[in-house]
Amino acid sequence: MNPNPVKITTTIANWKMHKTVVEATNYITSLGLSTQNLRTRVGVAVPFTAIRAAAEAARGTNILIGSQNVSGYHEGAYTGEVSCAMVKDAGASFCLIGHSERRRLFHEDNATVNMKVRLALEQNLRPVVCIGETIEERKGDKTQKVLEVQLMEGLNSLSAEEASSLILAYEPVWAIGNGHAATPQDAQDAQHECRKILAKLWGNEVACLIPILYGGSVKPQNAEELIKESDVDGFLVGGASLEVETFVKILHCHKG
Ligand code: PEP
Repeated sequence: MNPNPVKITTTIANWKMHKTVVEATNYITSLGLSTQNLRTRVGVAVPFTAIRAAAEAARGTNILIGSQNVSGYHEGAYTGEVSCAMVKDAGASFCLIGHSERRRLFHEDNATVNMKVRLALEQNLRPVVCIGETIEERKGDKTQKVLEVQLMEGLNSLSAEEASSLILAYEPVWAIGNGHAATPQDAQDAQHECRKILAKLWGNEVACLIPILYGGSVKPQNAEELIKESDVDGFLVGGASLEVETFVKILHCHKG
């Protein structure tokens, strides 16, 4: 297998529950001035309330704006939910699905992830599907199995064509938000496993088309080494994306 033969990486910021409309506008405006001639695709997953303003600030740049979640329902009596069509209408072109914080704090399981992925694809919203094992699962030698179940169930019944518009983010739960990223070798091993599972599902060609991002305490100091790994096609960045300058440093870490 030859993942990512063209070496174009994809790096996505996940602001989590941070930034007002004004803060989002200022950030995206400033990011737009720093993203010309980059060899990476840039996405920013913003709170629902900031999608429209962020998308307006990103107009004329190559920055893509996304949401951090979407509803698994099309429309109807689901108080508090925000649909794929709504985030698209506000200016999002992608959405995170199944982030470990959604799974852990809001009880999302693989079946919910699957509902959301299928709806997002239907609405032409690119899903960035997050998977990863907990520390207990890793210590219990269950990483491979957990990733396989998350992929098989979360991506159940997608066609090869649908699968080729996915982005996958491998985010070991034990590495998120604590400053302790996976080693480049651990990230590579897990992401290679993911690639093999994708190949089993849809064949090598599709598996190599799907960018597999690494997420978990990425910062400028470790991005350079992580991106050298052949199955690391970019990053999903939480804490280190909140300051534009720090995020831009990560964007400058590319392959080759
Ligand atoms: C995340 O929330 O997706 C994430 C990877 O967070 P952090 O970079 O802060 O570990």
